[in-house]
Amino acid sequence: MPLYIVPTPIGNLEDITLRALRVLREVDLIAAEDTRTSRVLLDHYEIVRPMVSYHEHNKIERIEDILDVMGKGGSVALISDAGTPGLSDPGYELINACLLAGVEVVSLPGPTAAITALVASGLPTDRFLFLGFLPRRQFALVGLLNELQNRPETLIAYESPYRLVEALQAVREVMGASRPVCVARELSKMFEEFFRGTAEEAVAYFQEQPVRGEITLLIGGQVQAASVWTESQVRAAFSERLARGEKRNDAARAVAADSGWNKRDIYALDL
Ligand code: SAM
Repeated sequence: MPLYIVPTPIGNLEDITLRALRVLREVDLIAAEDTRTSRVLLDHYEIVRPMVSYHEHNKIERIEDILDVMGKGGSVALISDAGTPGLSDPGYELINACLLAGVEVVSLPGPTAAITALVASGLPTDRFLFLGFLPRRQFALVGLLNELQNRPETLIAYESPYRLVEALQAVREVMGASRPVCVARELSKMFEEFFRGTAEEAVAYFQEQPVRGEITLLIGGQVQAASVWTESQVRAAFSERLARGEKRNDAARAVAADSGWNKRDIYALDL
């Protein structure tokens, strides 16, 4: 029988899928990061199943017990305190042990703070890099930001409210005051807030008030400056194509694609 990876709400108890509720009702065992925290969710949905803890400090020792349940034909649901297990939460070791043991692993789609924040951040979503929790120590944080400062992807990180201002200051110092950021706070909860602005503006805003709640920090990627040709380069490339017999319109389009120039401006060049 499988191991089900079951995402749970990151704040609003309504954010759980019908499938997740059915699986939680049907499994033989629920492995929960913190059984007391998960009890609130399970009680809310009147789910009564045997539970065992599976957390940071027993994540290796517990594997045998959990594999044993599945070896005897039982099914297990893995849940964490909030969001998707295995993402900055316990899960990786158990999931890998199941895969190695030939146990089927079923991953249910569901809430995660990283993606919930990303899609509403206004920052590019086509490519992103998930960093998990940012390093606590300043030198390690600055080192990481230095390493990532030229990456074009949107960066997504989890951060404590107590270290948010320091993290934003480090982003400002390493990546520049105008680097776009988004701070997603208390997603899906009563005091949900999205701050969108530059690193400089974010430092000023969050310095003014005590920062509370859960934070997902997003940092815009480095925008690669398009290299734009000089006029003489454009003239040379355009005349070469015309000399080869290309139509003026086709030649202008091709040179525009290569040069970063507007096609109309190239077309209008007096050669
Ligand atoms: N597994 C979870 C997930 O899928 O999002 C993440 C667990 S990690 C231990 C908890 C961190 O996720 C928090 O410290 C915060 O950075 C972020 N987070 C969780 N819930 C959040 C929320 N409602 N709003 C903003 N960030 C949240």
